[in-house]
Amino acid sequence: MNPTFLQKPIDYLKGVGPNRADLLRSELGIHSYQDLMHLFPHRYIDKTRYYTISQLERNNADVQIIGKITSIKMVEGKGRRLVATFKDDTGQMDLVWFRGHKWIRERIKLHIPYVIFGKTNHYNNRFSMPHPEMELLEDHEKSIRSAMQPVYPSTERLSARGITNKVVNGIMQTLFTEAKNHLFESLSQPIVTELRLMSKKDALINVHFPQSQQHLAKAQYRLKFEEFFYIQLQLAFKNINHRSKIKGYPFTKVGPGFTTFYNDHLPFELTGAQKRVLKEIRHDLGTNAQMNRLLQGDVGSGKTIVALMSILLALDNGFQACLMAPTAILAMQHYTGLQELCKDLDINIKLLQGATKTSERKMIHSALEDGSLDILIGTHAILEDKVRFKNLGLAVIDEQHRFGVKQRSKLWHKNKYPPHVLVMTATPIPRTLAMTVYGDLDVSVIDELPPGRKAIQTVHRYDANRLKVFKFIRDEIALGRQVYIVYPLIQESEAMDYKDLMDGYESISREFPMPTYQISIVHGKMKPADKDIEMNRFIKGETQIMVATTVIEVGVNVPNASVMIIESAERFGLSQLHQLRGRVGRGAEQSYCILMTSHKLSSDSKVRLETMTRTNDGFEIAEVDLKLRGPGDITGTQQSGVLNLKIADIMKDNDILKIARNYAWTLVKDDPSFQKEENQIIRFMYAQMIKFKNIWSYIS
Ligand code: ADP
Ligand code: MG
Repeated sequence: MNPTFLQKPIDYLKGVGPNRADLLRSELGIHSYQDLMHLFPHRYIDKTRYYTISQLERNNADVQIIGKITSIKMVEGKGRRLVATFKDDTGQMDLVWFRGHKWIRERIKLHIPYVIFGKTNHYNNRFSMPHPEMELLEDHEKSIRSAMQPVYPSTERLSARGITNKVVNGIMQTLFTEAKNHLFESLSQPIVTELRLMSKKDALINVHFPQSQQHLAKAQYRLKFEEFFYIQLQLAFKNINHRSKIKGYPFTKVGPGFTTFYNDHLPFELTGAQKRVLKEIRHDLGTNAQMNRLLQGDVGSGKTIVALMSILLALDNGFQACLMAPTAILAMQHYTGLQELCKDLDINIKLLQGATKTSERKMIHSALEDGSLDILIGTHAILEDKVRFKNLGLAVIDEQHRFGVKQRSKLWHKNKYPPHVLVMTATPIPRTLAMTVYGDLDVSVIDELPPGRKAIQTVHRYDANRLKVFKFIRDEIALGRQVYIVYPLIQESEAMDYKDLMDGYESISREFPMPTYQISIVHGKMKPADKDIEMNRFIKGETQIMVATTVIEVGVNVPNASVMIIESAERFGLSQLHQLRGRVGRGAEQSYCILMTSHKLSSDSKVRLETMTRTNDGFEIAEVDLKLRGPGDITGTQQSGVLNLKIADIMKDNDILKIARNYAWTLVKDDPSFQKEENQIIRFMYAQMIKFKNIWSYIS
């Protein structure tokens, strides 16, 4: 690529004035020609077909119609709108605009053929199309277009300001007309040849103006490969450099805190896996490099004790430590749990959360700064600017997927050296994926549950069997156990889900009446304080049944709870089901998970339910999850901003990722300083990417 040409600001491009340039910058982060070229369509629509009005169906799909506007009028009142009558030989329909009336009125021509495109609505036996894309038939016939029309990512603000998909298409045409002689190969010849990749130039052109499905597929493959390849190259270099470059505080001694705790206060024998992981952590902490470790362990595998013992090492070496949890309930649980474990040690532990009173807060702040506070446990509140440690040596982050990368690095900057970081997660990411996503993060795995745990028995029951399930609940409660009943709450249909929850709560209350039974209810719309009260009633055993949404998904530990009922289980993802199931099976009793569904099940739902009833192994479940996941349905790893990919998808394109990873890591091993002639192009690209960081915004 010719960097100087392609780094030109988009303002220079014909058709992109200062206003549009500003919008593209602020809305999509597009600054240069190059950025614009890498704004990839997220789908393509088939515009080879023209519909007649009589052919329209009520399915609200994108359609393209040729016809004429015969009249246009304002409809006043609520929902004031401009309505045009649009006719072809087979019938008539309405075109509707809710905004931009003046602009439309000035431009629209009556009785002249147009090609319109958009989604249709059907109301009062008449079709209408809101805010259609329009083009005069005459112009439409003249313009060059491919069968597959790209649809670009957009934002509400962009479309409101007139930067429609059609406008972006036009800008792309101009861009490629100007830039096509500046597009050069960006991968080495051996790679292009071995993998039979489409050239960079053809790939870019075909992804924006596909000649055919086949061309498009080859173009996408090439661009996805390249995207993964350069990310992996960065990861590989980082991985090599990490140990030598990022300094940390070495925890050289194993002092009295750790030893006393280990010898006298450990409430149980550590499992083999816990011991191994602890050894890995101790090794990391003992070196001069900063530890950056991901601790994966299935729910109930005993990560907390590992965290505590790592914290004790920090304290033994004169440092402070913090433990951050995603919710107030969890932070509180960690706080009471750690206090209990440390009650015979001389350690000062405090809890900081949103609800902490100002006076208490001030005390905590000053105790942190003068070093008299050893361990701070808390929620996001720990990340506030006012919170300053005297010498933070270790930060433990529980349930990492709720925290973004930005927050992680905020902790890092509180010291001269970054503290060691231990990230704990119960969401098992398949190992291959973890390596590719967290290239510079070391991974430890607790793959063994504490002894004496009985495997949770999981069954699938249809709604029709509800009465039997209720009887089972009654029996378990009679034995002194507690029960969770979970309802789905999926944002889009929140109101409906909320109703399901409340209906469920009512029928449960009828089935399990007071005073024999006490029921807690917890959901996202409650005030945090009320949530805590209800949660605590259940934790203390005052209530036998907890009716809840997925807010209880993470971390809550009530060992006496032995039954987890999941309502509408077909609506949950696999990892979520597994997380929820992990709320039971924490005590010595046999536990059960009952997945309730209707009879209507998609094939994916069936696989999920079958997997859940077959296995308790989080890693196996994660692998199945990875295979099931379709486009657009992306896990926490991607949402958390670990990877911000432009065209590839870690889940969907995992095969390409593996190949790219192989090539990148081999290159870094074979030719780390880019000596080979054939790698000069990669050296150049890599240097450009580091310099103009805007291209592949990988952060870690
Ligand atoms: P998680 O990994 O889900 O955070 P916890 O750390 O909360 O798991 O541990 C779950 C339960 O198992 C706790 O009650 C804890 O005390 C107990 N536990 C942890 N390790 C062991 C062990 N080695 N032996 C027996 N019980 C253990
Ligand atoms: Mg935990």
